[in-house]
Amino acid sequence: MPTCMECKSKAGKHHIIFKGNKSIIVYLPINEVDLCKQCHIKIHSDKDMDYKYKAILQARLQKLLPCEYYCLNSVKSILKLNNLQTKVFSKNVHPYKNGYKSCEIIKYLMGGKLY
Ligand SMILES: [Zn+2]
Ligand SMILES: [Zn+2]
Repeated sequence: MPTCMECKSKAGKHHIIFKGNKSIIVYLPINEVDLCKQCHIKIHSDKDMDYKYKAILQARLQKLLPCEYYCLNSVKSILKLNNLQTKVFSKNVHPYKNGYKSCEIIKYLMGGKLY
């Protein structure tokens, strides 16, 4: 049974980058966090709490993507993207000679800004 990251009560899933954001991260497991009903209501109205979890997500991504550049196949396998998600990714992030820049990948995934 998942427990709330804030208070250890019985928890459900919160998407750190909300649905409605066009980033493909909305549908990836890395974007999920366990929060109980009360804490879940709180995060949707408390900007500081929302930012705290966005910073956690960004740190998760930075840990997953420590190098400066990644090729599309690496991005696909590291983030466990399906073919459609990979296609959407490649349309939204600019490729350089050495591949996709880690900081730009993360910025795109975070919904276009860094925290
Ligand atoms: Zn939520
Ligand atoms: Zn809680």
